[in-house]
Amino acid sequence: MHESCGVFGVYAPNEDVARLTFFALFALQHRGQESAGIATTDGKRLQVYAQMGLVSQVFDEDSLSRLTGDFAIGHNRYSTRGSSRITNAQPLVVGKGPNAIAIAHNGNIVNAEHLYQELSDQGYTFQTSTDTEVIANLILSSPAKDWVDKIRYAMHRLQGAYSLTLLTNNSLYGVRGLLGVRPLCLGSINGGWVIASESCALDHIGAQFIREIEPGEIVSITKNGLDSYREETDRKALCIFEYIYFARPDSVINGRLLYPARQAMGEGLAEEHQVAADLVMGVPDSATAAGIGYSRRSGIPLCEGLLKNRYVGRTFIEPDQRIRDLGVKLKFNPLPQMLDGKRVVVVDDSIVRGTTTPKVVGLLRRAGAKEVHMRICAPPIRYPCFFGVDMATRWELIAAQKTIPEVRDFIGADSLGYLSIEGLVKAVALPKDIFCMACFTGDYPIPVQIGMDKLALEPMPSGEYSPFGINQR
Ligand code: SF4
Repeated sequence: MHESCGVFGVYAPNEDVARLTFFALFALQHRGQESAGIATTDGKRLQVYAQMGLVSQVFDEDSLSRLTGDFAIGHNRYSTRGSSRITNAQPLVVGKGPNAIAIAHNGNIVNAEHLYQELSDQGYTFQTSTDTEVIANLILSSPAKDWVDKIRYAMHRLQGAYSLTLLTNNSLYGVRGLLGVRPLCLGSINGGWVIASESCALDHIGAQFIREIEPGEIVSITKNGLDSYREETDRKALCIFEYIYFARPDSVINGRLLYPARQAMGEGLAEEHQVAADLVMGVPDSATAAGIGYSRRSGIPLCEGLLKNRYVGRTFIEPDQRIRDLGVKLKFNPLPQMLDGKRVVVVDDSIVRGTTTPKVVGLLRRAGAKEVHMRICAPPIRYPCFFGVDMATRWELIAAQKTIPEVRDFIGADSLGYLSIEGLVKAVALPKDIFCMACFTGDYPIPVQIGMDKLALEPMPSGEYSPFGINQR
């Protein structure tokens, strides 16, 4: 499962803002690994550089030195809407002259197709297949005179998930959608301001965390200072997967550091799904903290039974077929000396399609594990996400097609236990009603667009489970 993107913005008059943005994007690399880009303004015009690849592959001293000015925004992309190609890399620059904006977006717009049609009918043209360009053109289409009112106009037309950083020739904006599905926070640096998807980006560049940008909030930053504007919003829907998996464990969201929240998920799993075992391990890295929590609460010793190659996927060199056939072995290496003859509890963050988990279980068994007991931090995922998380159709979701005992048999585990929704909320220790949990409950915070939800929500005609999804059938 993948998240959609990481965004960043900075105004820092005495700093090399492109370099700051580079290091902030480096800290947000986990949110998107397809393309990276930075836009700056020198007060007269926008400059942008974006390429396919990881942050460290995209930029060098030469490209950074050409991005001058006191303001910058940056973006890491994982494509959920719009294909993976250079024209879709962000930040996008849309509009001309004083009306030009650079935009970086994290999320998915549910009514993008409708807005695209409406804007096309008005004569707006599109260079990309992203909903980000729809947002930009919607802002530009507003009859309002100033940028804040233009953004407000767009916010009341957009449905879905969006955390944005926006740059004009002389101002920076941070915008969090009315539902607040994706996080966005504000910090200060050396007399300036920063905006980031996650607080870990602030830590890495020596900025001070100030606060979350609230759902429905626009933060406007110019040379004259910072202003905040808030739009009324009656439902908050922060994606709970930020706590389970997406965000880094050293980030703080809603005042809650993620690392102890993940440990508490493991503790909850130990309370809800006890089992006699010799060892506990979290699947690295996303379930490491939860593994520690399970061990602490159950008293079963913790062990590192799987080592992860942290650089897998950090290359554009395509593996040949023989290497590709190794599958999950390319990512994880088990330690037979630790596992041989042992009953092992394995804590993982989630099971989506059920394609990876059987391979992990098989890897552990071949390394000598006598029993494998899977414990999963996310409750069963039975409904697709329409807010920027790449888990596709309902037919691909194993928990939508099989009972829990059937999933256990499919993945080849001796037992399987999912954390309950109540257990998850208790671990996060925040009010339940601020979250989106639609992929567990089917209770979407807004109606999903007709047509978009049709295929995803209808039962598969044959009633069969297909791990390959609708498109490959
Ligand atoms: S449906 Fe699930 S993955 Fe999507 S935003 Fe809601 S909680 Fe997050």
